[in-house]
Amino acid sequence: MAKLSIKDLDLKGKRVFIRVDFNVPLANGGQEITSDKRIRASLPTIQYALEQGAGVILASHLGRPKGKPNAEMSMKPVAAKLQELLGKTVKLAPDCVGPEVEAMLPAPGEVLLLENLRFHAEEEANDPVFSQKLAKLCDVYVNDAFGSAHRAHASTVGMIQYVSQAAAGLLMDQELKYLGMATTNPERPCVAILGGAKVSDKIEVIENLAKVVDKVLIGGAMAYTFLKSQGHETGKSLVEDDKLDLATKLLQQYGSKLVLPVDHVVSSEFKAGAENQTVTEIPADKMALDIGEKTIAEYEDIIKGAKTIIWNGPMGVFEMPPFDKGTVALAKAVADSGAISIVGGGDSEKAIKSAGVTSKISHVSTGGGASLEFLSGVELPGVAALTNA
Ligand code: AMP
Repeated sequence: MAKLSIKDLDLKGKRVFIRVDFNVPLANGGQEITSDKRIRASLPTIQYALEQGAGVILASHLGRPKGKPNAEMSMKPVAAKLQELLGKTVKLAPDCVGPEVEAMLPAPGEVLLLENLRFHAEEEANDPVFSQKLAKLCDVYVNDAFGSAHRAHASTVGMIQYVSQAAAGLLMDQELKYLGMATTNPERPCVAILGGAKVSDKIEVIENLAKVVDKVLIGGAMAYTFLKSQGHETGKSLVEDDKLDLATKLLQQYGSKLVLPVDHVVSSEFKAGAENQTVTEIPADKMALDIGEKTIAEYEDIIKGAKTIIWNGPMGVFEMPPFDKGTVALAKAVADSGAISIVGGGDSEKAIKSAGVTSKISHVSTGGGASLEFLSGVELPGVAALTNA
């Protein structure tokens, strides 16, 4: 079901509550922001609301304060960084609800950042009274926090029933557009590349994507659970023995859609720079840490012909060169393919960054857990709750 976008709202003279994802990484006891990527990601939505003549209230969680105020997880550095990026005054409220906050509400063109939502246990508990207090602050609601949309909390779900209209922000809109297109009506051929450590983390993603896409290229440690289920020697590679039956079932069900590595870079040691060789059958005393050259070539070929590519998870232990070769090669192939490319998950994002190709990717999802759930076919509660278009 299509959802209302911020562009559908009349924001002039209104107070808009924008749920953002400002859960930034912090250092120095919460004083220093080490990456402002998440703040930058919501700037277009904030700027749009200001241009339309709204007073902007911003709210986010930060870290895990477990329902109590904690100076090390205050939004204070976020307010300072946002002020610098926006080039206009950003007031910081001492709390996220209550009379003191109500006395600070923004006039049109002003920005008020609320203090950490998770300083109240009622946020994660999706408490109705707390939800009403949040809703009381605004005329209309916008959710731009895709990374939190898989959680049914007061600020992502609860408060929506108490506001007149609830729309997706520009960042949320972009996430829904790309992920929605890829999982329902992709341009074909559509290829999914799935890697990472465990089959168990991605069963639902494999099952859901295999129904829609034309090929699923499997890499990373999870490939070895599939290969072992086919009777191959996997040596000391990471294998989930309790998922062998499931791997067999998936291979039977989706047959040639699931593509497995045909060669592997193996080593005796799990460490960067370890001595290694490329093999087609894994020796009993070695572990496979990356896909081999033949597999890279085969996967590159399939990627070249794709019109849509969805990628989640590295092809090997990419944190430990030289076992990053497969992941980096595929990152380049995806970037050069000319296909609509959607990358999700922190590790895949790091991989495209280290391959220097981020700007050639159509969409890098901002929500790790949320994008995996979306790709699994689960309707995210924070999206479901928004007003239908
Ligand atoms: P995930 O969080 O499931 O996407 O898994 C990412 C992790 O999988 C990374 O830390 C990789 O190092 C790890 N990984 C990928 N391939 C392998 C492999 N062949 N053996 C062990 N770990 C791997």
